[in-house]
Amino acid sequence: MNLNDTEIVQKIMTDAGCLIANNIAAADIILLNTCSVRDNAEEKIHNRIETLYHLLKKRKKTTVLGILGCMAERLQSNLLESNNIVSLVVGPDEYRKLPELISLAFKGEKHIAVDMTSIETYDDVIPLCSNGISAWISIMRGCNNFCSYCIVPYTRGRERSRPADTIINEVKSLVDRGVKEITLLGQNVNSYSYESTKFHTLLADAAEAVPKNVRIAFLTSHPMDLSDSLIDTIAQHDNICKYIHLPIQSGSNRILKLMNRKYSLEHYLDIISKIKRSIPNVSISTDVIAGYPSETIEDHQQTLAVIKEVRYVSAFMFRYSPREGTKSYKENDSVPEEEKIRRLNEIIQLQNRISGELNQQDIGKTFEVLVETPSKKNPSEWVGKTMYGKSVIFGNTDGKYIQGDYANVIITDATSATLKGNVVE
Ligand code: SF4
Repeated sequence: MNLNDTEIVQKIMTDAGCLIANNIAAADIILLNTCSVRDNAEEKIHNRIETLYHLLKKRKKTTVLGILGCMAERLQSNLLESNNIVSLVVGPDEYRKLPELISLAFKGEKHIAVDMTSIETYDDVIPLCSNGISAWISIMRGCNNFCSYCIVPYTRGRERSRPADTIINEVKSLVDRGVKEITLLGQNVNSYSYESTKFHTLLADAAEAVPKNVRIAFLTSHPMDLSDSLIDTIAQHDNICKYIHLPIQSGSNRILKLMNRKYSLEHYLDIISKIKRSIPNVSISTDVIAGYPSETIEDHQQTLAVIKEVRYVSAFMFRYSPREGTKSYKENDSVPEEEKIRRLNEIIQLQNRISGELNQQDIGKTFEVLVETPSKKNPSEWVGKTMYGKSVIFGNTDGKYIQGDYANVIITDATSATLKGNVVE
């Protein structure tokens, strides 16, 4: 969502006559788009502001530094008060004001713009799409779920969906620009609803509005809202990616209840079985939190058990980080830090083993790979992606394939993170 928001900001700023600088030394305006989801993400931004403080105080030219995103919404005036180099603090619903606020900042004025609206979706701002072949479209913003640990509903406001027709027009215009993979984004895409259009209909419409060689994907789903119709839609369209991110967070019903996740483990596993039955070879990934307040060893064991049962291709795994303003912040953060780390490491170890085993099973299989970019380690090798959301590194020594092509690649080697292979005709 943040990367997509950055593209929206880039579009607003370039429409206002700015150019995107290639490096920080060339920039007159520096905007940091921030995340508040974990303490560690905020810490990084505080460090970045500190580094910029030393850099900018040596400068002769005026430079405007703005903090955008969830930290701006959460910390507001604290960001202006903590140092004197930040001139702007702008929350996720206020980006349209940036050009005006930036010109005021060049005159020495400092501003905070953090109002949240129930209508802003930036529906008319077609974001600049940076890599040319993959693009995101935010189809909705905000979240109504109020999971007890999550800051998002407080920093991004309530759920609102964009009109389906403008989304489909944006899909088509991205295809005209050569984009080959479009990801429909939302904090909880499954609850997309605009007039009579629900998410599964929008997804089908997007898949049918593009040529067969353009892939449609989506992020992220909430187990409570993932419908049978959505599973059928994915199964029925060859160009919808066979990759579903379905956060479990904990394998313990007691902890899920405390987290206000609104589903039980049994319900979650039921959806997983339906997905696996309907979509052959589907990849499923997840999010897991280790050490939520009051989590016992038994709760933790249940999390390990669900990871073993589902066999996710990958997972975003974190230890619990209390966020001020959320419901769980008031609860006793009872699991000691070292125990959280121990449980997290156990989860990571298990997940890495499973990811490695699943990837090993792909050896000898041939996949259609969307060619993305030369490998950073070895520019004669390229990196691409399968329909199942897996990255593949393959030799492209004769330069036959360019970004945006499809290559058939037979998998010859695998680690827990990537597949390696050779092109086959
Ligand atoms: S569904 Fe829960 S975890 Fe996801 S953004 Fe909404 S409140 Fe946060």
